[in-house]
Amino acid sequence: MKAAIINNYSDDYSALKYDSVEIPKINSKEVLIKVHASGVNHCDTDLRKGLFGVDSKMPHVMGVDAAGEVIEIGSDVCQFKIGDRVSPHFILSCGSCLYCSDGKENICPHAGVLGVTEWGGYSEYIKVKENNLIKIPDGLSFDHAVAGQIPFATAWEALIDVAKIRLGETVLITAAGGGVGSAAIQVAKHAGARVIAAAGADEKLDKAIELGADNVINYTTNSLGDAVRDLTEGEGVDVALEMTGGSILLQSIDALSLGGRLATIGAHGGEKIEIDFIELFRKHVSIHGCGRSTKVHVEKVLNMMVIGLFKPIIHTTFHLSEAGLAHELMESRNFFGRIILNP
Ligand SMILES: [Zn+2]
Repeated sequence: MKAAIINNYSDDYSALKYDSVEIPKINSKEVLIKVHASGVNHCDTDLRKGLFGVDSKMPHVMGVDAAGEVIEIGSDVCQFKIGDRVSPHFILSCGSCLYCSDGKENICPHAGVLGVTEWGGYSEYIKVKENNLIKIPDGLSFDHAVAGQIPFATAWEALIDVAKIRLGETVLITAAGGGVGSAAIQVAKHAGARVIAAAGADEKLDKAIELGADNVINYTTNSLGDAVRDLTEGEGVDVALEMTGGSILLQSIDALSLGGRLATIGAHGGEKIEIDFIELFRKHVSIHGCGRSTKVHVEKVLNMMVIGLFKPIIHTTFHLSEAGLAHELMESRNFFGRIILNP
């Protein structure tokens, strides 16, 4: 089969080679999927550079998400059949520990990650255990299933399950131009919240308004805390969804109201910061780490996409042979929505 592989870690996106490798062999509990679409994620470019903190065996096939059809099943597989339209859950949970049994497979201590610990979606075929599979609803395209599942499920978990936003609350969403940010605007609006979207480029903020954001802030020219207080009569936001880290995380904490909740799901802009905990005590604010959705979250958001409640945003698609160009675009940050690869 053809795949976009890396033979070594490299800063250079041309390290991604379109080459022939063996089709994975399935065991009795696995299915083989013919991939129709996969997505490019920030963690892929980190992994390519060797910055992900995991030693992947070389050659390696990246790709955290994928969608396709089942073309072969193991003898013990009972919930899926050949021809089913499916998506692997990127958390390759064990399926049998206490966390998995409790529906919290997103924090399974034995889990691998698709495209990180196992070969992922940058290929024509992938194999996955059946307990890691999700059915794609009829009427939802493979490209849209890939484009929407991780962003919307991540936003759902952070905003609805963890931060527990309520009707009428005000929510700050940073990195509003990214995949999760554009999904989070839609999830928060659907939950009845007022949305303040923040990003570092005015054209991204224009698109955030199109998606339903009520107010926008460019954080290259404004302090988030001051700008949020200006928009909220000095109160601050009830909830902040923060995915940048560094100074933007500090400014997001500053933007919280009394009793505010912050969900943090990313830190590309700085992983270590100094926090004044006295301010946290005084304001009764809380900070929650999250970012890994469950299969149930994915099923929910796929079903909401197919009835048109959530709109996955695709910036562009590339053929799998152009995975290097897709990484170049991802690293330029000059896009809005998902970058999709088609074999
Ligand atoms: Zn488990």
